[in-house]
Amino acid sequence: MFEQRYSINVLNQVVVLLFFSSVAYSHQPVEPKWGFYAHKRINRLAVFTLPPEMMGFYKKHIDYLTENAVNPDRRRYAVVGEAPRHFIDLDAYPDTSGHTLPRSWKTATEHYGADTLALHGIVPWHIQLAKFQLTEAFKARDAKRILKISADLGHYIADANVPLHTTRNYNGQLSGQQGIHGFWESRLPELFSVDYDFFTGPASYLSAPQKTAWRAVFDAHAALDTVLRFEKELTDQLGETRKYGFEERNGLTVKVVSEEFSRKYHERLRGQVERQMRASIKMVGDFWYTCWVDAGQPDLNKLAELNETDDDQKAEADEKQSWLKRLFKVRSED
Ligand SMILES: [Zn+2]
Repeated sequence: MFEQRYSINVLNQVVVLLFFSSVAYSHQPVEPKWGFYAHKRINRLAVFTLPPEMMGFYKKHIDYLTENAVNPDRRRYAVVGEAPRHFIDLDAYPDTSGHTLPRSWKTATEHYGADTLALHGIVPWHIQLAKFQLTEAFKARDAKRILKISADLGHYIADANVPLHTTRNYNGQLSGQQGIHGFWESRLPELFSVDYDFFTGPASYLSAPQKTAWRAVFDAHAALDTVLRFEKELTDQLGETRKYGFEERNGLTVKVVSEEFSRKYHERLRGQVERQMRASIKMVGDFWYTCWVDAGQPDLNKLAELNETDDDQKAEADEKQSWLKRLFKVRSED
């Protein structure tokens, strides 16, 4: 467990270093989305929103769903086509009405072409695709796929609820606020989420999942103004010296946003991070539940006996290792 976490941290540092040495991938944020901590919490807590017919199976595999909540970020730099699934630059479009920005993937690709869409991010469309895939996995009674896609879908939904995932200015780089991405989605939840109320009530059926996915990115985007404005105001007020501090991490001294600055900013946001985390948890539960209903409510207790063989575990470990290898390969050829 510790070793695994350590290797992930090393990977992140490598990614960050490589990012700065590369212009070809200049759109990609330098920090993993929502931070690994928040992604894991969101997938884990979503399990408790499910009805009893689903809860047994999901609880049995809750550690898998937690640990693999960050797979999409792990493979983000290694797998072609992965990166655009995590964001959408709503401000890249002249307006965002359904006419200009079609809500269905088919119409949107006819309008813009898949490449242009990929450039500005595709998270709300990708949630719809993952929703379809999870429903199919339930229909096929395929326990492994159910878990894999549930974990992935949870990740994309959580990303869709992050304000900085809905803008070209994703890391404050266009407004002199470099670093705000990791600050909002990693540092704040790590410092303060212990006090959040994560009881969201039971999962509900989504009669229009497509609309739900779009509403999430629009709601997140509506919160963007305060995310940026309050950070700027507080920086002006406290000054750079009080904004930053140093902490020990993995034996290294790293520069971080100070606890004082974080606390003041968090207070000004008046529960925004908590609201977005809660919205993510509820939405993940709602999507998992809706896929299961749409698949005809298969009996998951019959699947609960799934036990991974050594071969399964090795195949999964190999796949993760290959993301890492491809990462180095891709980058060394840049
Ligand atoms: Zn992500």
